[in-house]
Amino acid sequence: MATIGFIGLGNMGGPMAANLAKAGHSVQAFDLSAEALSAATAAGCRQAESAQDAVKGAAMVITMLPAGKHVKSLLLEGDAPLFEHLEDGALVIDCSTIDVHTAREIAAAAQQRQIDFIDAPVSGGVGGAQAGTLTFIVGGSAEQYATALPVLQAMGKNIFHAGEHGAGQIAKACNNMMLAILMAGTCEALSMGVKNGLDPAVLSDIMKQSSGNNWALQVYNPVPGVMDNVPASRDYQGGFQVDLMYKDLGLAMDLSQQSASATPMGSAARALFNLHKSQGNGGLDFSSLIRLYQ
Ligand code: NAD
Repeated sequence: MATIGFIGLGNMGGPMAANLAKAGHSVQAFDLSAEALSAATAAGCRQAESAQDAVKGAAMVITMLPAGKHVKSLLLEGDAPLFEHLEDGALVIDCSTIDVHTAREIAAAAQQRQIDFIDAPVSGGVGGAQAGTLTFIVGGSAEQYATALPVLQAMGKNIFHAGEHGAGQIAKACNNMMLAILMAGTCEALSMGVKNGLDPAVLSDIMKQSSGNNWALQVYNPVPGVMDNVPASRDYQGGFQVDLMYKDLGLAMDLSQQSASATPMGSAARALFNLHKSQGNGGLDFSSLIRLYQ
């Protein structure tokens, strides 16, 4: 069992750190939020005083932060960049969803300092983080992937090696663009059915057994009351914020521009989430997009 520094204990990082502790690892946890820190302590992690304190004696360091600027500033910038506080031979695993450019920039800076760093964004939502069934998509060398694997297996079920540094973030951007399109389509179809007199639970069951079946219908229904234990049934609190989905769609649009890939559906989904966010819904779960249609 390893000593692991874990930084970023939000909706995703909190349950991921808890699963590492449950698996017997010694987890030194840090977050800027006192509330997130005390939840991690209650789940068996040791509360670190700072990010620098969290990485003391750690063979692995996991970051789960909102965006590229947070990861870069923690690892490379400021008075006490974390890259200068790591133990020799420590592997840094960034599980945040960030832009490919920043992921590669950090990987290059790590290589210069002979530090091991991989991008390992996740899919599966808060439910997957809690259940320890996340999908991890790793960008890095085969050796780094092999070192990370046993620790990632304590938090996830499917662990993929997508390719070299940055490849994990590219795959994640493709996946989340698809997810946004599927969620928008699911909201649109369910709203049309309800406006035409159908029960959303019945319509969801029909589509789940038909060609419209998708992940949102299976585990993340956007209509309140259709499923227990999803954000829609707790006023869209917790889960995956509209702000974060909007960020991810921005990452996908950057990629599409850089590679001259046509993404009209991704672009339409981004416009929808932008409209929803501009109406003050950035802090709600992304399935709240259905309110745009009601
Ligand atoms: P969140 O906002 O709930 O958590 C982020 C946490 O990071 C917060 O607790 C915040 O206090 C902390 N933080 C920010 N800067 C910090 C710093 N410098 N030092 C220590 N702590 C700091 O976000 P989340 O939903 O947990 O998402 C985290 C990442 O995972 C994002 O990149 C997101 O896109 C990705 N993601 C989220 C989901 C989901 O369903 N929520 C699913 C897959 C991927």
